Amino acid sequence: MRKIETKSTVLLNHHLKALKLPTILAECEKVAARCAKENVDHLGFLLQLCELELLERERRAAARRLKAAKLPTPKVLDTFDFTAAPSVNKPLILELMKCEYIEQRENVILIGASGSGKTHLATASAVEACGRGKRVRFFRVTELATLLLEAREERQLTRLRSQLGKLDLLVLDELGYVPASRVGAELLFDVISRAYERSSVIVTTNLPFEEWTEVLCSERLTGATLDRLTHRCTIVETGKESYRLREARRRRRGASAEEA
Ligand code: ADP
Ligand code: MG
Repeated sequence: MRKIETKSTVLLNHHLKALKLPTILAECEKVAARCAKENVDHLGFLLQLCELELLERERRAAARRLKAAKLPTPKVLDTFDFTAAPSVNKPLILELMKCEYIEQRENVILIGASGSGKTHLATASAVEACGRGKRVRFFRVTELATLLLEAREERQLTRLRSQLGKLDLLVLDELGYVPASRVGAELLFDVISRAYERSSVIVTTNLPFEEWTEVLCSERLTGATLDRLTHRCTIVETGKESYRLREARRRRRGASAEEA
């Protein structure tokens, strides 16, 4: 169908652009035709257009937040196989995906062996939070420690702290792989302290709490960090087994059963 340009469509295009309503601009003719066919009244037509604009705006904002969160690979819960992770409490994870802990400014600690799905679950929670309008930032602990040390050297700590202070959810992935330096540990603790009761933190770790001292370099700091993190906190255990190892073993068993 050829688009007929009248004075009013030209003006409408102009006004919708000026008002920054690109979805209404793109969709209005199509929706007008459908509404005419279905006998939808003027207010119903306007409502449909507003809903489309709003939905598209929310989608774009979620995409922007997701980009700003800097997730390594944005995983979703749909690809998490709970049958392959019997240690993981499924109802608890489904509850976490509702992001109410963020409203309550509570924390989450995911604890389990390497490869047991901690980063997958932390990232899926981050994606969910972005979709619900939360400001999220993902860091590997070593990456954040380095960033904090650099910012300190360049006298940019205040700026970095204020950026972190604007977040609703801070994800600290892999506490425990590389011990932070004493100064790095102090700076990390400072971030956790500032987040305390103001925003939520998700920490993933392969270390039992007793061993956190090795990473944070001091009993005092470990005690104080754990105190803050675990005060209002959900602890999720992901188990002692790596998902990939378990899958590889399962496939091998399947193959040998076929051979037999
Ligand atoms: P961790 O952070 O505990 O070391 P990851 O979350 O990085 O482990 O998991 C390692 C890999 O295995 C990732 O690609 C992840 O998507 C996958 N994985 C782990 N657990 C599961 C699971 N239960 N279902 C599907 N994929 C999983
Ligand atoms: Mg991980």
